[in-house]
Amino acid sequence: MTTLFKKIIDKEIPAKVIYEDEDFIAFLDISQSTPGHTLIIPKEETVSALSASPETVGRINIKAVEIAKMLMPVLNCEGFNFITNAGSIAGQTVDHYHVHIVPRYDVNELKYVFKENKAILDEIHARITTK
Ligand code: 5GP
Repeated sequence: MTTLFKKIIDKEIPAKVIYEDEDFIAFLDISQSTPGHTLIIPKEETVSALSASPETVGRINIKAVEIAKMLMPVLNCEGFNFITNAGSIAGQTVDHYHVHIVPRYDVNELKYVFKENKAILDEIHARITTK
């Protein structure tokens, strides 16, 4: 299964690459959630964090943090969201493992809905921790 990202790895389609080594490539996301929104992907073809080897999961996250530290002084951002979507139910649209590196400049620029719900908290915690 050839994905769009495999074509970026193979330089069949252009991308604004900001980092590349033997195993990983990082490039700007075409839809810039915030300026500098970057994707890092393994060159190995694997669908998501759920199918990747633990080594790849570890290494991609280490690289993502290195790239964020490299971007920080250039972009003058204050923090980052590191996000990976695994599965279409979770919003994954490209079936090649990737971690979003989203620079943050303003607390209100991305909207999250966090609502406390004690009943759900109690029930889910019990399900996870009861053998
Ligand atoms: P997902 O929704 O799977 O977590 O993220 C896929 C990301 O890939 C999206 O943020 C989307 O904007 C980005 N994307 C899709 N097509 C292209 C493309 O052709 N080039 C680049 N640079 N990014 C893409």
